[in-house]
Amino acid sequence: MTARKAQQATDWADLVGKFFHTFCVGGRAQTQGRILARLDGGYYMIQTYEWISGSPSFTGTRIAHVSVMSNEHWAWYATDEDMREAYEYGGIDHGRMKCVCQTDADD
Ligand SMILES: [Zn+2]
Repeated sequence: MTARKAQQATDWADLVGKFFHTFCVGGRAQTQGRILARLDGGYYMIQTYEWISGSPSFTGTRIAHVSVMSNEHWAWYATDEDMREAYEYGGIDHGRMKCVCQTDADD
């Protein structure tokens, strides 16, 4: 069996294990992370990762509700490889200067 996992159909009915970027209202990348678990009531446990190292953030284990995750400021990926490719080649705005929206994360 040599087929790559990325070539299999993605089960988008289950967000657990999926990767994401979040963006400020100005469209600049804010966080990258992964869904760890589905909790009751539409809540999910998420893990965010450092931009530079790609390691899990020390304070990056959080709970988010699907109502927050289901807007245009979240982009979804089946694998971390897809997430990294989108960041490198997908035209994602990750410039170092603060963008004009004034809502960017402080980091
Ligand atoms: Zn911004």
